[in-house]
Amino acid sequence: MTTTTVEQATRYEAVIGLEVHVELSTRTKMFCGCATDFGGDPNTRTCEVCLGHPGSLPVVNAGAVESAIRLGLALDCEISPSSQFHRKNYFYPDMPKNYQISQYDVPICLRGHLDVPLDEGARRIGITRVHMEEDTGKSLHVGTSGRIRGAEYSLVDYNRAGIPLLECVSEPDLRTSEEARAYLAELRAIVLALAISDAKLEEGSMRCDANVSLRPVGHTVFGTRVEIKNMNSLRSLGRAIDHEIARQTDLLRSGHEVMQETRHWDEDRQVTSTLRTKEAVDDYRYFPDPDLLPVRPDPGWIDRLRDGLPELPAALRARLAERYGLAPPQVATLNRNGLVGLFEAAVKAGGGPVDVANWLTNEVTGWATAQGIDPSTVPLPAAHLAQLIGLVGDGTLSSKLARQVLDEVLESGGASMPKQIVEARGLAQMSDAGELERIVDQVITEQDEAAQRVRDGNAKAIGALVGAVMRATQGKANPQMVNQLLRERLTVS
Ligand SMILES: [Zn+2]
Repeated sequence: MTTTTVEQATRYEAVIGLEVHVELSTRTKMFCGCATDFGGDPNTRTCEVCLGHPGSLPVVNAGAVESAIRLGLALDCEISPSSQFHRKNYFYPDMPKNYQISQYDVPICLRGHLDVPLDEGARRIGITRVHMEEDTGKSLHVGTSGRIRGAEYSLVDYNRAGIPLLECVSEPDLRTSEEARAYLAELRAIVLALAISDAKLEEGSMRCDANVSLRPVGHTVFGTRVEIKNMNSLRSLGRAIDHEIARQTDLLRSGHEVMQETRHWDEDRQVTSTLRTKEAVDDYRYFPDPDLLPVRPDPGWIDRLRDGLPELPAALRARLAERYGLAPPQVATLNRNGLVGLFEAAVKAGGGPVDVANWLTNEVTGWATAQGIDPSTVPLPAAHLAQLIGLVGDGTLSSKLARQVLDEVLESGGASMPKQIVEARGLAQMSDAGELERIVDQVITEQDEAAQRVRDGNAKAIGALVGAVMRATQGKANPQMVNQLLRERLTVS
């Protein structure tokens, strides 16, 4: 009976769009000269403009406009010849003006796309718009919960109020949580390449909201969408979307409707819960900010910004794959972990590209993960990695010993060179033929039964002898050399 029900159940596909906020690393705020640097006592980075005093006038930060145009160009957007700032009206205790200056019907960048790298190849996702706006302040709810519910009282810090944000809105082109994660990772890589933000999801300098709806497979009309907030890592984005798809599937299959609302992702409980029922865009009473002129970037300036764009992640991946013969997933791993610079430097210092890439994506990334640090911050000078690879290549170190040496280099904070560690610890693989021959002969004498079996043509019996030599040398003998010496001595071809 159950099987029949499952077979008859409608199959749904998810329709996902992402709204990503990027906090710009300009020196000053969006509409005033207050400093944006993190830290500082609460409410010390404020002035009459970002506190919304009567009569104060905003002035657009040209650096923020430049960052917006550069992101738009990197996403192949059209740059609006004239865009407008609007007031988005709503009450929020940490927003002193009771409106947020944002862009509405004419944003600065429109109609671009992002090619998202997936295992099966790139998928083009439409970019609806990139617009500029200002951040709100921060409320601090004092009490055990840390949230407004159950708080004893709340404090507000306006240091963040007015910090420039870019909001990048995708078309609802994404279909799975994997695609959404890959999109966000690629967008983050682009933002980092442009150096317009430190784009830290965990710390909130990059924030992602997801709009998720379901529709029966084959239908073109969109279902009711739900907005999910508060995902602060790629992993929680993936989990929140999967949870929301499962929740909506259950609702629809049991004959219920999906309500249009905003839901909060609860990282501890791994569920989404209702935050507020969704307000419509009309509720915000957008109107053009009368204090701000339209933004009309000079076409010559846009051309100069286009010419000055850095190598973007997709081009970088193609170049690394072509120039060094690396597999695309390996290039993607290097890039995602911020290790491309170290990779190229270590290759320049003499490491073979494939070896360097293997060490970085396996051992080095593994070490960083175990330490709970970002792989791009590992204390490993390029020359040290190249030298370590050289020591494996010339037979001084087995790959097992090399991993030990790498650990010591990293634990020394990059201060010790691999050669120093090998000498200080006597770790070098024994490749002195004379010394090794003596030990091989001794083992043959001691294990004459096994030696005789090898002489009689039992090739497998050689394993016991190789093992004995490795033990006698504390694992420092080169196994291939031991094998060869034994074969010579016991005249096995
Ligand atoms: Zn200010």
